Amino acid sequence: MTREGWPNPALQADVPAIECPTGVIEWLEKLPTSVLDIASKVAEHGGGIWIVGGAVRDACLGIDVHDIDFAVSLEPQQMMEIFPDSLPTGIEYGTVSLRGGDQFYEATTLRTESDYEDGRRPEQVHWGVSLSEDLERRDFTINAMAIDIARKVMHDPHHGLQDIERGMLRAVGQAYRRISEDGLRILRAYRFLDRGTAGVWKFDFELSEALRQNAHMLKAVTHERIWMEWLKILNGKNVAAVVEKMAHDGVLDCFLPGEWRSQHLRMAALHHPYVHDFDGLTRLALILSESFSIEVEEALIDLKMSKKERTYILDLHSRFGTLPDASLASMRVFRTVLEQHAEQHLKLEIVLRSHDLSPSMGSSNESADEVYGLLEALEELAPLKSGNQSLVDGHWIMQRTGLGKGRALGRLKAWLHRLQIERDLANEGEVEAVLCSLHWTEENHSDWPQLQFPD
Ligand code: ATP
Ligand code: MG
Repeated sequence: MTREGWPNPALQADVPAIECPTGVIEWLEKLPTSVLDIASKVAEHGGGIWIVGGAVRDACLGIDVHDIDFAVSLEPQQMMEIFPDSLPTGIEYGTVSLRGGDQFYEATTLRTESDYEDGRRPEQVHWGVSLSEDLERRDFTINAMAIDIARKVMHDPHHGLQDIERGMLRAVGQAYRRISEDGLRILRAYRFLDRGTAGVWKFDFELSEALRQNAHMLKAVTHERIWMEWLKILNGKNVAAVVEKMAHDGVLDCFLPGEWRSQHLRMAALHHPYVHDFDGLTRLALILSESFSIEVEEALIDLKMSKKERTYILDLHSRFGTLPDASLASMRVFRTVLEQHAEQHLKLEIVLRSHDLSPSMGSSNESADEVYGLLEALEELAPLKSGNQSLVDGHWIMQRTGLGKGRALGRLKAWLHRLQIERDLANEGEVEAVLCSLHWTEENHSDWPQLQFPD
């Protein structure tokens, strides 16, 4: 897919060029046409354009590149003119989103920044033409490399390639200064330690010290940004090692309730093999298993996560320590209520009990071995004859009981539904027989069993 002279060589960088590793050359050869078109167009207008940031890092690591960001020497207004269907997604920071086929690419004008005064964002942005300065303001050496697409060369003034080979995360410039400029870099640092199947990287000495000394800087970072990074860490393959290090370095104390340096049991629990199958939200619930639910709720609200995420974690948290008994009836109710989460709940209970964690609400007495028994029983539990839905509705019950609309009717319906599930009833006739055997009077409806877990 190469046309003669396409893409045109763009403005040359003010940093020395080096050869690209073979893997990167192969990756460049497979770039979509839309990327080459963008590069060509910027060059035609006398600009410089480079692939920067995470895409260069991931291409060098030989892992999937999920999005491509450009640095360009043209000013944002000019970019908008050259690419009429682009969007000004962050124009005050020089970023426009370029449409390329069915996706968008962010192109950010080269810039130099004045000092960070509030520990969060640069106070003023100036457009520049120096790739060198642009790479200098980036956080870590592995994120401060650039690729010249047309010339097929790389710019790596901070030796990110060498750090990739060593498996080491290093700040661009003086680590202490760079971390104290922007507290979010603390979380980004821990996130980049997790290299997935390639294991866990190390911080270089200076960065490691800077992170510990500046952990408090996280307090100046907006909670939405913290949550975005923290969730990525929680979803990482090597979550246990990374979170353990964060606890040890005093970072977790900045946004989770409690004191985390001495939480060895909670950290050990994250190493359990089941944790691999849990998503980030479930892992967070597990980390917070011993905290009081009120503290957990406050911390989650504070992190500004979505209501859906918060409810998911709080539901898990409120069920910690509870188990169905081994009877068929109880297992059926348990599976009907938790649906696809039933198996995960038992696995969480195994993890908690294997590591002597005591949920804030207290735990039932069963050992981890007994919970393994429940897990087997759940796997062997036959499907219900008539599925999970109630076989009868409110009208059906009103006709047979004379109850009017209201609370008692709702409670009776839920009670019958529970009995249907517990006894695996197959049809309306069987439900009717059960209804006839119930001794109910309207006054005590609040005592009637419901279809719920835990009871
Ligand atoms: P991801 O794979 O998660 O997208 P990324 O490194 O591409 O990782 P982005 O947030 O997309 O992360 O940022 C793109 C690039 O911008 C980074 O590679 C880095 O060079 C720079 N960058 C991002 N955040 C910061 C920051 N807080 N301080 C300095 N440079 C940053
Ligand atoms: Mg990115």
